Amino acid sequence: MRALKLVGPGRLELREVPIPEIGDDDILVEVAAAGLCHSDLHILHQGEQWPFFGTTMGHETSGHVAATGAHVTGLTVGDAVLVRAVWACGGCRPCLLGRENACAVNGSRSAFPLTPGIGADGGMADFIRVAARHADPLGDIDPRTAAPLADAGLTPMHAVNSTRHLLDEGATVVVIGFGGLGHVAVQILRADTAAAVIVIEPDAAKRAAALAAGAELALNPDTGTVATLLERTSGYGVDVVYDFVGTQATLDIAAAAVAPEGAIRVIGLADGAVTVRASLEGERLPWGVDVQRAYGGTSADQSTVLRLAADHAIAVDTIEYPLAEAQRAFADLEAGRIAGRAVLIP
Ligand SMILES: [Zn+2]
Ligand SMILES: [Zn+2]
Repeated sequence: MRALKLVGPGRLELREVPIPEIGDDDILVEVAAAGLCHSDLHILHQGEQWPFFGTTMGHETSGHVAATGAHVTGLTVGDAVLVRAVWACGGCRPCLLGRENACAVNGSRSAFPLTPGIGADGGMADFIRVAARHADPLGDIDPRTAAPLADAGLTPMHAVNSTRHLLDEGATVVVIGFGGLGHVAVQILRADTAAAVIVIEPDAAKRAAALAAGAELALNPDTGTVATLLERTSGYGVDVVYDFVGTQATLDIAAAAVAPEGAIRVIGLADGAVTVRASLEGERLPWGVDVQRAYGGTSADQSTVLRLAADHAIAVDTIEYPLAEAQRAFADLEAGRIAGRAVLIP
């Protein structure tokens, strides 16, 4: 079979490799689609110290069960499945409490849990091996467009679920970046909360798409952005900022526009910082603001995403590339030419 391997810093190669053998608790999935994420670009640009060269890329995978191990129940050959992006152990204390994205065994204090495409072979291939408990049945959801639900659906869902207490009728929230995750975040907020959504996005076509997806306002970031957000909220600030970019410029907007007791979710992986200053002097956050670096999500978050997708309340806007043209897809993502989510089709 073919597999897109990260072979060195900045170097991807589509290689011929054996179809993986499965264990008793595994399934073999014939890939229908594999999503391309900004974090794949971060991985691509790691230096020589990166420990996972040789791994098949891809943490957003959907497909059909092609074989099942001897102990697998509940899934049979031909079933459409979504392969989860968070391969937690399932048995440690955080996992048992339903916080699989903070798994203490397959992750650590500084590392997120095992992820296909990073520490294990991912879905940018003809087949992927996965433990059956890391696959969710898709039912009637089309596997060709479902792959990004594993991250572009899951990660915003987790960020939204962690701020539910702030999303009552009358709440105003900001989504920064209307890309692969941001465009699903807006749909989740519209479908599953009462909050009014404001999008901040420099690309005019993406701003138009944000309005079409139900955002109340879509702003081109400039020096007046914070003033506009404060005006919209009578000077009080917005209840939550979901930052899918994470630059200093976007996090400065978040810190300057968030309301007291509000929340900032830092999801994008750029190099910005939020400063929590103890002093009464200088630029500081309002009292009570809750800042989280958001990572992935839990099985409960994934279930909600799948329910919303099955109800057609959310859908990923996919742009298809043949697996053989993966390099072109990566180049288009890097150049900002992709609206929605690119998926590779084997
Ligand atoms: Zn991702
Ligand atoms: Zn665990």
